[in-house]
Amino acid sequence: MIRFVVTIFCGIVILMFCWSCANVREETKIEQVQSYIAALNQSNYNKIVSFFGDSIHLDELDYKSAFSKKAYRDLFQWDSVFQPSYQILDIQLKNDSVFARISKEGKRIRFLNEAPSVTQEVFTFTSNKIDRIAITSYDHFNHKKWDSNRTTLVNWVAAHHPELNGFLYDQSISGASRFAAAIDMYQKKRNTSSVPSLIVLGTVQDAGSPHIACQRNCCKDLFKNPDPNRKVVSLGLIDPENQKKYLFEATPDIATQLKALKKYSTTLTSELPDGIFVTHAHIGHYTGLQYLGKEATNAKDVAVYAMPKMRRFLKQNGPWSQLVSDHNIVLQNLSSRTPVQLTSNLSVIPFTVPHRDEFSETVGYTIVGPNKKVLFIPDIDKWKKWDKSIIEAIAEVDYAYIDATFFNGEELNTRDISQIPHPFVIESMNLFADIPASEKNKIYFIHFNHTNPLLQQSNPQIQQVINNGFHIAQINETIEL
Ligand SMILES: [Zn+2]
Ligand SMILES: [Zn+2]
Ligand SMILES: [Zn+2]
Repeated sequence: MIRFVVTIFCGIVILMFCWSCANVREETKIEQVQSYIAALNQSNYNKIVSFFGDSIHLDELDYKSAFSKKAYRDLFQWDSVFQPSYQILDIQLKNDSVFARISKEGKRIRFLNEAPSVTQEVFTFTSNKIDRIAITSYDHFNHKKWDSNRTTLVNWVAAHHPELNGFLYDQSISGASRFAAAIDMYQKKRNTSSVPSLIVLGTVQDAGSPHIACQRNCCKDLFKNPDPNRKVVSLGLIDPENQKKYLFEATPDIATQLKALKKYSTTLTSELPDGIFVTHAHIGHYTGLQYLGKEATNAKDVAVYAMPKMRRFLKQNGPWSQLVSDHNIVLQNLSSRTPVQLTSNLSVIPFTVPHRDEFSETVGYTIVGPNKKVLFIPDIDKWKKWDKSIIEAIAEVDYAYIDATFFNGEELNTRDISQIPHPFVIESMNLFADIPASEKNKIYFIHFNHTNPLLQQSNPQIQQVINNGFHIAQINETIEL
């Protein structure tokens, strides 16, 4: 009997042991990660750190950092202010590590990325505790948008709420609260602002993207799936107080660009602008004017600002001459370095720059608002051919949108980039290498050839430009003037 009881007891113990083995197996690493993410979603700090050992390594690509529980608490509290939420999109165990695809969103990410971010993460374990969480790739993370929105917010705060300055680098609860407050105030004000603003309506070189007859990887998929953000270079200008709007460049994408400009000027109902400034007679910069004629909208007296040779070219050559004779457009005189006062808040100063001038001069513009100035030079030969120093020109403004047609020689299969008549992005970055960070911060590259790697979100060159302290112009980005 005793032996029987002992046998039963041992059996039960063995069973229980196996059961707990099974339990350990069930409390698998995958489940630990799932419970950890659930704890993040509940903002439950004690639960979260119960999955960690004494410290936790958090890696982002090549950037590695280790946190004690105390240091992690600060990071956790900072992040919690933005009310993040997480979702596991995919999870699997490989070689004792958990590989997961995780989507994260929250106030900060929504504002900067304009969508949830999605990352590939690897969780590794020591003694059954999560020891390291490494982000190995960003699947949905728009570096250009992130940088552009962050800069917009920092600049807006500096101009309107200096008491919040420094929020970006303050990783305390108070820093996060100021960050969140800045987002709230900026979003509220943006919709009711009466200050003039400038909107980027296109960033691509004249011939667009996809590019005619291109067989390379840059355009292959775009013929099937066009990207609505690939528009030829153009800027819009809005003065809400004086109820006026202006367009810089008349591109082949003028129809959608004018709609976008109208959308941004909520109080202005007219479809057509109060004036169009063109830089030169290359196809991306003026041929959109044809849509103002009889076959299209048959506009009435739209002011087109142009330099003397450009005006002559339009007046004397069809089909442009018909726009003039039918009064679809009215040519307005520009002369180099002479300001044009548009409204009480806005003026524009054209200046000639060296470029292939077959049919017209080529100009750049300084756009002057009540508080800020913007330089716009979409096309130019090498910087050293200009009679003015680009570094001085940048010093005179707050923002500079400048020619970035080509990144380096690779996209043209040539090593000798000195012969190609544009400043390559790598040449410009070298030229600007020693200017102060605050000057670099003014620079926005624009006018990208279809081959330019800065057009393609996943390319490492984008990170290179941003890490060097510059920006890549982003369609729809807005600057208050
Ligand atoms: Zn161009
Ligand atoms: Zn291409
Ligand atoms: Zn050109």
